[in-house]
Amino acid sequence: MTTSLAPFPVEKIRKEFPILTQKMNDQAFVYLDNAATSQKPLAVIERLSKFYRNENANIHRGVYTFSQNSTRECEEAREKIQHFLNAKESAEIIFVRGATEAINLVAATFGRKFLKKDDEILISEIEHHANIVPWQQLAEEKGLKLRVIPVKDNGELDLEAYEKMLGPRTYLVAITQVSNSLGTINPVREMIKAAHHAGAVVLVDGAQAVPHMKVDVQDLDCDFYVFSGHKVYGPTGVGVLYGKRKHLEAMPPYQTGGDMIESVTFEKTTFAKIPAKFEAGTPAFAEIIGLGTAIDYLKSLGLDEINRYEHELLEYATEKLSKIPGLTIIGTAPDKASLISFELEGIHPHDVGTVLDQYGIAVRAGHHCAQPTMKRFGVPATTRASFAFYNTKAEIDVLVKGIEKVIQVFK
Ligand code: PMP
Repeated sequence: MTTSLAPFPVEKIRKEFPILTQKMNDQAFVYLDNAATSQKPLAVIERLSKFYRNENANIHRGVYTFSQNSTRECEEAREKIQHFLNAKESAEIIFVRGATEAINLVAATFGRKFLKKDDEILISEIEHHANIVPWQQLAEEKGLKLRVIPVKDNGELDLEAYEKMLGPRTYLVAITQVSNSLGTINPVREMIKAAHHAGAVVLVDGAQAVPHMKVDVQDLDCDFYVFSGHKVYGPTGVGVLYGKRKHLEAMPPYQTGGDMIESVTFEKTTFAKIPAKFEAGTPAFAEIIGLGTAIDYLKSLGLDEINRYEHELLEYATEKLSKIPGLTIIGTAPDKASLISFELEGIHPHDVGTVLDQYGIAVRAGHHCAQPTMKRFGVPATTRASFAFYNTKAEIDVLVKGIEKVIQVFK
């Protein structure tokens, strides 16, 4: 770690997250469930409040000023996300409800239209259910083959196996950039290159990546990229599908109805151009505007600075947790985002989580919507502590003390 860098202003930042001053079970609230959802800065809370108090009006349809302002703000949010992902144009940014809906959209439109019997879809052994089940359903429907890239014991994908799996039948590769259950950062850029070489199209699940690192979809050269607003310090109910124009234009609409049409008669409907073609009905316009504010906020902190600080937290937590007798970290890939999944010998993760709750510590216990990953590592569930840039080393110390208390309770 270089010492010339200014320290990350975590104490100042914490003041911008009102929930962090709450107590939980009479203890200082230690929020370590950031991979499930992130807390919201005042900037986002106040933007939503101001919008609902003073500005609320539906987009697209109004000729009056408030409606036009909402429309403009949503389009500005689209441009902010375009720049955030470095997409070529804002029309490649589609607003959806979240990562799950974005993947379902691609499976139901691109997948249904282009994939044919015996084509192969490659996913990995460390995917979230959101990036498994839609492909599995599609495979059943169309007689496709779903193949799984294996993971090594440390949580890294077996890239040699992956390269061997790619072939003329591979139509689509759908991989996560960061595993939500192990923290592994996959080398998606190289994986995309290899997939393209084999003629395959690639969807990247960025739900756990965008909160932690700079993402450049042109540099990655992915065909699709998805993420959820609520994990990136924005509101719930809004997420993003990025798609290359050529794909989005070739795909049929997902849902149909208002706002996605060019003209409607009882005989025939013609569809709007992208992005409207994929945004049927009233979108979560207040939340879209709030997501734009969240992106501004992240940019003001700097993704590189966030990444550096969170990495420090990860290293600190890994060192401290590794010293606890009976604790095994699941997922020890050299390149990890700031989360730690662990097992405590003889103690069920739900019991770990419940006791930690008594000490004000919020962690996640369960299969993390990644049952195949749990199966691969031979555990029914893990306890997961996931860190954001507003967490501190002192909070990790509280976690360590909490785990020691759990061990005492179950001794
Ligand atoms: N992919 C990954 C890697 C995730 O962690 C999650 C959320 N846990 C999702 C997809 C689904 O996100 P959402 O529930 O917001 O649609």
